[in-house]
Amino acid sequence: MKALIYNKNSDNKIELKEIADPKIINPKDAIIKVEVSSICTSDIHIIQGYVPAANNNIVLGHEFTGTVIETGEQVTKLKKGDRVAVNCITFCGECYFCKRGYINNCQYGGWELGCKINGAHAEYARIPYADTTLNLIPDNISFENALFVGDILSSGYFAAKMIEIQKGDNVAIIGAGPVGLCSCMCAKYLGAEKITVIDISQERLQIALNHSLCDYIINPLTDNIEERTKELTDKRGFDGVIEAAGGKDTFQLAWKLARPNSIVGIVAMYEENQILPLPYMYGKNLTFKTGGVDAIYCKELLELISKGEISTDFLITRRFKFDNIIDAYNIFQNKKETDLKFALY
Ligand SMILES: [Zn+2]
Ligand SMILES: [Zn+2]
Repeated sequence: MKALIYNKNSDNKIELKEIADPKIINPKDAIIKVEVSSICTSDIHIIQGYVPAANNNIVLGHEFTGTVIETGEQVTKLKKGDRVAVNCITFCGECYFCKRGYINNCQYGGWELGCKINGAHAEYARIPYADTTLNLIPDNISFENALFVGDILSSGYFAAKMIEIQKGDNVAIIGAGPVGLCSCMCAKYLGAEKITVIDISQERLQIALNHSLCDYIINPLTDNIEERTKELTDKRGFDGVIEAAGGKDTFQLAWKLARPNSIVGIVAMYEENQILPLPYMYGKNLTFKTGGVDAIYCKELLELISKGEISTDFLITRRFKFDNIIDAYNIFQNKKETDLKFALY
């Protein structure tokens, strides 16, 4: 089969090559035909050498949907022909962490696909722990409709859950990238009454407004963020803040915007250490939560898409044939702010 391989010793770091088709190696595995996949910033981080856990010579990609073509002997919930959304985290469902819902720290799984083992950017993929890692796609939605369920939509939902939104809350989301935008739609679904999105890209802020994902926008380059926050929150600060940007100053911004006794949820990936200035935040009584996504809500999210409550379709701004995946990667790495996610067929 054709596959996109990460090769850290090659000039381009990626190569489209012919490799052997995957086989079942564990009775809990399934093999799926990849129907649609997408490129994630984490794929780019691997190529750039920022992911020490990544193995050389693996097939990249962890955002995808597909059709089951073969199942191992111990797979009980899936059969050949099933349409499935893939969780970017493979997890056993039985270890200490899995039993408590903390699947990101599964003792036998984690972020493996497209990082430690072969992933999505190929014609076929082997999925460990298929019964827990794969979710059936409802009949009325397409492979593309379900494309982001296992990664960025789960991250947005995880972020919105993190800040424990109460009905009527007035929340802020820093970063209008794909995860920030998914956080908006999930925050609204979970009961936030007012949502403010903060980003330095006016184009991205406009996308959030155009899709009715937020009520207000703040651009720190042109707006007085402190004044705007006072206006929008009756001088209290936001009832919860999601930090989905990972910029140089965005962590500091996050806790400053939060009202006393609220939760700051951090789903951003930082390139540098961040400072927690405890003397300055003394008495503000904040709770900080951090995390790589525990993507345990895929089934629920698929149902919400099926019922038309949420949709991630607008995130797809370009489509490519899989054969042109090298071009897609090159464009993705130099893309404009308005180019959000690509779909590969
Ligand atoms: Zn990802
Ligand atoms: Zn586990």
